[in-house]
Amino acid sequence: MADAPLYGGIELGGTKTVFAVGTGKGGIIARHTILTRAPEAVIADAATFFKEYGQSIASLGVGAFGPIVIDPAAPGYGRLCETNKAGWSGFDLVGALAAAIPVPLRLATDVGAAAVGEARLGALRDKKMGVYLTVGTGIGGAIVSGGEVLPALLHPEMGHIALQRLPTDTARSTCAFHDDCAEGLAAGPAIAARFGTSLDHFAPEGAECEMIAHYLGQLCAQIVLMLSPERIVLGGGVGGAPGLVRTVHRATVHQLGRYAPAAVGHQDYLTAPALGKDAGIIGALVCAIEAIGEMA
Ligand SMILES: [Zn+2]
Repeated sequence: MADAPLYGGIELGGTKTVFAVGTGKGGIIARHTILTRAPEAVIADAATFFKEYGQSIASLGVGAFGPIVIDPAAPGYGRLCETNKAGWSGFDLVGALAAAIPVPLRLATDVGAAAVGEARLGALRDKKMGVYLTVGTGIGGAIVSGGEVLPALLHPEMGHIALQRLPTDTARSTCAFHDDCAEGLAAGPAIAARFGTSLDHFAPEGAECEMIAHYLGQLCAQIVLMLSPERIVLGGGVGGAPGLVRTVHRATVHQLGRYAPAAVGHQDYLTAPALGKDAGIIGALVCAIEAIGEMA
């Protein structure tokens, strides 16, 4: 055990940040969660946490909220783009981490890290094509093929795919850009604006959950038609509402009519993350392994 390499992982979320030390094969031996504050404070907390393992961490994997430049060859690599998170716009995350914790580092988006975790160690393992969809403060998605997240111009924006509104639905979209996109109709802020609270306060078969499932089912149906994935994983705070995975699956099949491949109707076609809430931090640890060119 003393010789087993240890890796560091950081899941930088808009609300909270998780630090972890692990083996990279799903094993977490230490973790610490903080509130995401000003960037300098978060970096200082990271340095303090990882200092204890300073001699033994081989590398660091980071899954970060965005938008952030994750292509190492692109100008501004490792920097946050314009964000409404105070103090973070333009922040050089990779530069600051490299100065505080000088080990090899691999950066992914938060969605990308969770997708890597599910692709290697979770519900998308052994799938030739899968989609990880997270529904929380926003809606994001990553396409996984052969254990890898597909590269992209920036990253997919599945949450902003336009949906058909229910005829009786006159609620304002909470997306600043679109009147009828999935995020504006069914992400956490849209749910809070419609119902005054989060979805887990309502019965799984109630009208509130059925409405959100209807919209997420439309989104999943579009993903099925566009990509034909072998499985869709539904994560995130909203995705974890009791019973929602089942209701969204039913809505997806209904939306597709009889046109869906038979496999889409199987009960495990649309699932919760196998790694649960740890998908992101475990994915960050997998990214750490890849930072030094090793595979789990
Ligand atoms: Zn939108």
